[in-house]
Amino acid sequence: TDLRRAIYFDTSQLAVVFQPIVDLRDLSLIGFETLARWKHPEKGWVPPDQFIGIAEETGMIVPLWNFVFAEACRHLVHWQRLRPPGATPLFVSVNLSAVQFFYPGLMRSVGAVIELTRIDPAWIKFEITESGLMENAEAALQQMESLKSLNCTLAIDDFGTGYSSLSYLQKLPVDDIKIDRSFIMNMHKGSENREIVRIITELGRILGKRVIAEGIETELDLHVLRQLHCECGQGYYFYKPMLPEAAEALVLERTRQMLAHEPVQA
Ligand code: C2E
Ligand code: MG
Ligand code: MG
Repeated sequence: TDLRRAIYFDTSQLAVVFQPIVDLRDLSLIGFETLARWKHPEKGWVPPDQFIGIAEETGMIVPLWNFVFAEACRHLVHWQRLRPPGATPLFVSVNLSAVQFFYPGLMRSVGAVIELTRIDPAWIKFEITESGLMENAEAALQQMESLKSLNCTLAIDDFGTGYSSLSYLQKLPVDDIKIDRSFIMNMHKGSENREIVRIITELGRILGKRVIAEGIETELDLHVLRQLHCECGQGYYFYKPMLPEAAEALVLERTRQMLAHEPVQA
């Protein structure tokens, strides 16, 4: 009931935060992942794993997602204007739960926001989990192709935790593979996780997909990932998810550094 109130009657309780994604080679900023937050009037900030599930079961994920997506695009338009001339534009990624991904009105919502914001769809990325895709592999492939036809980009989220087969992965029109945090977290404890990360990175290279590591928390994580030639990543070692104002300040700071030709420090 509280969530319904927030989504339908008081969207000031809803918010998005953005986690920067960096190129691990030179630590340049390449984009942001959008993460939903709910500020409950009494309970305070509620993390997404406590309300996304409820929103999915009740169908409220549709209006919730529309809010998140519109916010992501609105901020992206603004950030692109703050970039120095000639710089590669930033991307913004938005998570799509299985329910939302298969929702028949998805394409219409996406098209409407693209038209309204006049955003270049090439800089919008959708993250879909492996398990979400496997719920209905054939329909998933079709839906992904529809999103690709708008010129948006796609990522498989939490890769390695689901059961997608290699032949299925090869067929999917995804641009990026995001390695699940659980593999990065214990990478140096045993060599097993490190090997898994190495193999996923190699797989990405063979299939021509960009690999993004999630949950980089230490300098050692970064060091190992660089050794494995993993290209991109996000994690608390660099940045925690941040409010839009902080994301804007970061974009501005990076613009200043680029114009001054200053190298980036972790
Ligand atoms: P995700 O898409 O895999 O997002 C990454 C999660 O890992 C985020 O948690 C982020 O805060 C956390 N994280 C990032 N770096 C680190 C790190 O270095 N260490 C640790 N321990 N954690 C890190 P968050 O924001 O709690 O989101 C959890 C999940 O909720 C997301 O996982 C995503 O699946 C889902 N979610 C968030 N926003 C949305 C949304 O708008 N729609 C849908 N459908 N799902 C969402
Ligand atoms: Mg994600
Ligand atoms: Mg993930």
